[in-house]
Amino acid sequence: MAHPQAQTTTALVVAIDGPSGSGKSSTARGVAQRLGLAYLDTGAMYRAVTVAYLRSGLQPDQTEQIAALADAVELTVTDDPEAPAISLDGTDVSDEIREPRVSQHVSIVATNTHVRDVLTDQMRALVEAADQRIVVEGRDITTVVWPQAEVRVLLVADPRARMARRQAELDGKLNDADAHDQIVRRDRDDATVSEFATPADGVTLIDSTHLNLEQVIDHICSLAPTPPQE
Ligand code: C5P
Repeated sequence: MAHPQAQTTTALVVAIDGPSGSGKSSTARGVAQRLGLAYLDTGAMYRAVTVAYLRSGLQPDQTEQIAALADAVELTVTDDPEAPAISLDGTDVSDEIREPRVSQHVSIVATNTHVRDVLTDQMRALVEAADQRIVVEGRDITTVVWPQAEVRVLLVADPRARMARRQAELDGKLNDADAHDQIVRRDRDDATVSEFATPADGVTLIDSTHLNLEQVIDHICSLAPTPPQE
């Protein structure tokens, strides 16, 4: 009689969605470190395809060619929360994806439905490759990419708090107009393809406007099911 293979790990996928500047990345990395999980920043994947788009010289209305880019590029993601990284066709673009020109253009790529399908498949493969023990952050993780996650959170914050955080992150190098573009305008464009303003059924809403990082991490960790006793 065949013996079923013993399950060595219990799935624990923590899905965190939210708008830009809600503190998702620091929170998601902190939760991954605390719970000993891998970490996937799905925004980095959209940003890396945007780097390819900017290099290609394509125009925003060339939707078919932008879609083809997603099929052509090779993304390699390092899911270590201590040192997350992403490569595009073998070259590390972890710094380049944070440049303002990438933030300005990422919605062109992220609103392309074929690009979304291709990247969503890759995200699911990365969750599987991590044995479903991973924190995944983005805009549509709780709703589209991995709605069956054990922990599902929508992290929001007041737009003014988010703009101030983004400016602090960039050491005051971001003026008010650019901060507005990176937060308010980008939310509006992103909202045309993902619903991340209100939580889907079963998703816990956390408003971080008046919470510090540790408090948000504590809250999310408290939602994780405790592992069964041996
Ligand atoms: O989270 P971050 O600001 O780095 O995301 C960059 C962009 O990637 C977002 O503005 C959005 O357009 C896109 N994105 C998305 N779906 C995700 C993650 C990011 O559309 N799951």
